Amino acid sequence: MTSSRRRPYAEQRPRDLGGGVWSVPVPIPGNPLGYTLVYAVESPRGPVLVDAGWNHPDAWAALRDGLEAVGVGVAEVRGVVVTHFHPDHAGLAGQVREVSGGWIAMHEADAALVRLMRGLSDGEHRGFQAEMLRRAGAGPAEVDVASDERPPPPAQPDRELADGDLVDLPGRKLRAVHTPGHTPGHICLHLEDADRLFTGDHILPDITPHVGIYPYDRGDVDPLGDFLHSLDRVGELGPLDALPAHEWVFPDARARAAAIRRHHEDRLDRLAALLAEHRRPLTIWEVASLMSWNRPWADLAPALRGMAAGEAAAHLRALEVRGRIRRVGGFDAVRFEAIES
Ligand SMILES: [Zn+2]
Ligand SMILES: [Zn+2]
Repeated sequence: MTSSRRRPYAEQRPRDLGGGVWSVPVPIPGNPLGYTLVYAVESPRGPVLVDAGWNHPDAWAALRDGLEAVGVGVAEVRGVVVTHFHPDHAGLAGQVREVSGGWIAMHEADAALVRLMRGLSDGEHRGFQAEMLRRAGAGPAEVDVASDERPPPPAQPDRELADGDLVDLPGRKLRAVHTPGHTPGHICLHLEDADRLFTGDHILPDITPHVGIYPYDRGDVDPLGDFLHSLDRVGELGPLDALPAHEWVFPDARARAAAIRRHHEDRLDRLAALLAEHRRPLTIWEVASLMSWNRPWADLAPALRGMAAGEAAAHLRALEVRGRIRRVGGFDAVRFEAIES
């Protein structure tokens, strides 16, 4: 997920994008992504925010001051529509709601995950992580990382959105487009009166978003298959201007969606070939260590290895759904092998 074209947070400024839309960069302290772009969309009854940023005092100050700079007081905010539950998007939504008395809206599938997360104790969360890593074939040192701290779960939304719903933005048309993959309830938001698409993390101009399966060995979902389908759905909306949650604003969401799809199709082909080369079934962890990442596997920090394993698992599951590989039981950890054709 690193990029030579990355732009540091220090170079970012709040921007008037025209048509009653502003972007405000909100830092993600200690994260190479740098910042979340929070958007404010004007309406006669108060602005609505798309995403809110990471829950940290510096991020809060940047959001408040950045909105102020474009003429929006946090107290006037009518509501926050969150593209997905991740902490760099939903983290500050609760604080905005406290100050403004506005609503928080999220897709129903991510709202259900927030409910689940808020119900888990830290101990239960750690146990879940450790068991997931063991079943994927991680070593004891890697399982230990499961004791890492987690960010506080986001605020529970007041409103739940389904595909096609209009967001409460008086005088304008902002429609939720369900784009599962990066999370089960990820939405893009189509500002239909301006041919613009808020793409959240679904489509970014330079990097590809993380798509993983958790727990890694689940066989009842296909997030990468969902993600590829969601890319096609965005393509069907036409060549809209894209307003992503990271990196920078760019033209033609449809062209970028097609490029990201090709990237994953290539990756699936390479992975199928890799399994065919090996004469024995491989664990998810072994597969992850053999795939190419932006750094050598040996140099990946344990938390990044965990994310890489999630991505490997999502690609394995997509190949399984397509009938190109199968999973093999009877081992300590789940394994996959190629199906001879
Ligand atoms: Zn995300
Ligand atoms: Zn993000």
